[in-house]
Amino acid sequence: MWKKRLAIAEITVIVLLALTIGIVYFRKQKTQEGEASAAASAAVSAESTSEREDTEMEEQKTAPSVSAGSTAVSAVAETPAAASSAAALSGSAENPEEADDGSGSAVSAVSQSSEGEEMPAAEADGTMGAEEQKAAEDPYADKPDIDINSWEFILANYENNIEEYVPETAEIEGIELDARIIDAMTAFVADCRAAGNSVVLASGYRDYYTQQYLFQLECTMYDEETAATIVARPGTSEHQTGLAADITDDYYEYKTSDLQYTAMYQWMAAHCQEYGFIVRFPEGKEDITRIIYEPWHFRYVGVEAATYIMEHDLTLEEFIELYK
Ligand SMILES: [Zn+2]
Repeated sequence: MWKKRLAIAEITVIVLLALTIGIVYFRKQKTQEGEASAAASAAVSAESTSEREDTEMEEQKTAPSVSAGSTAVSAVAETPAAASSAAALSGSAENPEEADDGSGSAVSAVSQSSEGEEMPAAEADGTMGAEEQKAAEDPYADKPDIDINSWEFILANYENNIEEYVPETAEIEGIELDARIIDAMTAFVADCRAAGNSVVLASGYRDYYTQQYLFQLECTMYDEETAATIVARPGTSEHQTGLAADITDDYYEYKTSDLQYTAMYQWMAAHCQEYGFIVRFPEGKEDITRIIYEPWHFRYVGVEAATYIMEHDLTLEEFIELYK
């Protein structure tokens, strides 16, 4: 009787042991499956991340955040898979959307949040091209559709010598200008006078040889370098284009920066673009134009370009640069 009881107890223990072993074994199997799927999904994410790094590294600075995402995923894959993270990873691997484009959700989440700014979906996917992205960032993407090689944009400055260029000129109030801008200048001056101002056309077209004479005269008093800061070298004066005029006031005929306080200049600076003219040497742009602020010097570039240049506070140099 006692022996029989012992036998039953033994059998019970064996059965229980067997059950326990079975359960432990089964659980272990499951965990290994989890690990395997975690590793697989991590591999997929890592692969897609490295592809994206290749394409994105050169054109944008989001690379560090993408790498951070990749590191996080790899770290998980290398540690013994805890049941919860394994489940999370298999969960993301099962997501059909991510399976299609092969990008892990962890990676996209990191790349969106770490920068602290919203990225368009296309950009995050790496499908936005370098040019599209540049256009999105270019504040001058709305520049007018003009032919920068047209005559209105002839550039004569310290680094662009127009040599012995001679335009066809016509006379207006004692000065000569390129014949093609006579109508625009006539209207500009007439409307300024109609607004109650007095206008003097002080200087217009100046030919190469006149400029050469002025420059050489200056060279008799200074060395050539110094002379060039006072009088433009022949071929580099904008007056030689025939597209510029010095405009002063009847009551203030001096070409000094104080001209800016006259009602005449204030009207002209506010309306010049409506006639196709710009303030060619504005204040604060001396490092670009290499010419002091000249509130008397107006240059013709056509209404479209003039409007854009004046609205965006550009110089002709900067405007032309937009088309290169
Ligand atoms: Zn001038």
